[in-house]
Amino acid sequence: MAIIEPARYCPRCGRPIEATEPASTGPLARCGDADCGYVQYRDPKVAAGVVATIEGRILLVRRNHEPARGRWSFPSGYVDAGEAVEAAAVREVREETGVEVRIERLLGVYSGPGEDVIFVAYAGDVTGGEPAPGDEASEVALFAPDELPALPFPHDDAIIEAWRASR
Ligand SMILES: [Zn+2]
Repeated sequence: MAIIEPARYCPRCGRPIEATEPASTGPLARCGDADCGYVQYRDPKVAAGVVATIEGRILLVRRNHEPARGRWSFPSGYVDAGEAVEAAAVREVREETGVEVRIERLLGVYSGPGEDVIFVAYAGDVTGGEPAPGDEASEVALFAPDELPALPFPHDDAIIEAWRASR
């Protein structure tokens, strides 16, 4: 799924610009004006998430927005520019579930051909707060590790495997 759309007008000179085809990994668009030469790069986005536990059970949120609306998922979200990745992971857990989490270890960095998002997964321990859904979740619940619902994103199974292997 493309999350970054090619620009229609050059942000440097204002002329209409054409998307490059195909735009699978290279630049999204180039300005056709030789004196301008602007190139819109297809930079990846970084997201972070946490397999967070309370007494051995895993905290999941039911998403109330696309993608994967209605599905259970780890609390996760995009890292802001200027923000440490670990801090973004802690913030996303707080925003989506209402609890404080302490990051314990890196589970892995996940990416793949054609994917716009690089996903950084951590394991963490909940240190305080009562689970309650934030703006981006309709429910929060704890699941036993062997009773997890089917998770929606491409690397979720690998993340759970990494969590089990490093417990
Ligand atoms: Zn231009």
